Amino acid sequence: MSRTHRIAVLAGDGIGPEVMTDALRVLDAVEAKFDFTTERNVQLVGGAALDATNNETPLPAETISACENSDGILFGSVGGPKWETLPPDIQPERGALLPLRKHFGLFANLRPGVCMPSLTHASPVKNELIPNGFDVLCVRELTGGVYFGSPKGREERDGETVAFDTMIYKRSEIDRILRVAFTAAMGRGKRLVSVDKANVLASSVLWREVAIEVAKDYPEVELEHLYVDNAAMQLCRRPDSFDVLVTENLFGDILSDEMAMISGSLGMLPSASLGGQKEGSDLYFGMYEPSGGSAPDIAGQGIANPIAQILSVAMLLRFSLGETDAAKAIEAAASAAIDKGFRTGDIATGADAEKKVGTTEMTDAILAGL
Ligand code: NAD
Repeated sequence: MSRTHRIAVLAGDGIGPEVMTDALRVLDAVEAKFDFTTERNVQLVGGAALDATNNETPLPAETISACENSDGILFGSVGGPKWETLPPDIQPERGALLPLRKHFGLFANLRPGVCMPSLTHASPVKNELIPNGFDVLCVRELTGGVYFGSPKGREERDGETVAFDTMIYKRSEIDRILRVAFTAAMGRGKRLVSVDKANVLASSVLWREVAIEVAKDYPEVELEHLYVDNAAMQLCRRPDSFDVLVTENLFGDILSDEMAMISGSLGMLPSASLGGQKEGSDLYFGMYEPSGGSAPDIAGQGIANPIAQILSVAMLLRFSLGETDAAKAIEAAASAAIDKGFRTGDIATGADAEKKVGTTEMTDAILAGL
């Protein structure tokens, strides 16, 4: 009997709706091929929701409820100049993305930093350093650390203004994110680098202790520790030596963007934000979206790279729906389209500039590979 999954589809703004349309074409194709179906609850989010609600909210109650009644959320991107002058609390990113992460306790942010061998010219890293490209997975803790720790504030002390934040982690928070990272490493190259600043920060000392403890449950995974400053340097010197990297919220925010930059284009990179594990299974509830934003500079022109959104579908299939074969097929078909020379504008630099295609043609190439 065919398997059925429920997903919430929130395309959002800018290039979101364009690349979502194409990602859903790819989902249709793998459903037919691997004999499962998805019931898709399509809802408004971000600027599109603000427009529809007379600027009341970027995250309507129906949108939240559709997400609650799903196995996972496929998200496009939100935001754009039109909504940037609204009060900060209802601006698309602050008013939709952050509340969604909070509401669903999405604590693990998985951001692949991949540079395919045939796209090394698009990376700012010297090509001789990455002859075969690279494929790193950054696992970032998303709900703790200095962004959310208290006390946080600003006051007058001794006649001077001071401002302060608190970097705080509970053992349980570190334990659960490390387990996500070790599990991810088990499914890949079985090498994990834990990034901290244990020579200076108390929270990092605890982080490292827990990493060493949790490692005992994953004897096949080789664990290494790097200080964050060294990790930042090694990532741009030898990105191909990394497999999985795990770190706390602030460090992960910075390192995952560094990885996106050295990968060559945001248009290639998906991401997953995982919450709790589903009872009795190794699947997570999660939200899946491109690493980039709504790219207002190219929206509406049919030239956005759909691969980040299409690979977000693959991550949804793998981590929330348990359709691993379909996920692998999508990833292989995306690589094959690149290998055949198909290039959207963001990756069509240098010698590739003449092979340029639009969003639809790139998706057609991927569909042909399926
Ligand atoms: P951006 O990621 O939207 O764009 C940065 C650059 O990357 C642009 O030149 C853009 O054209 C390019 N780019 C991004 N995705 C691409 C794709 N698929 N194909 C080809 N090129 C692509 O970042 P920004 O310009 O800083 O932000 C634009 C808007 O997006 C802002 O309103 C911002 O708040 C919002 N944003 C949303 C999210 C999200 O929804 N998760 C994330 C980041 C930014």
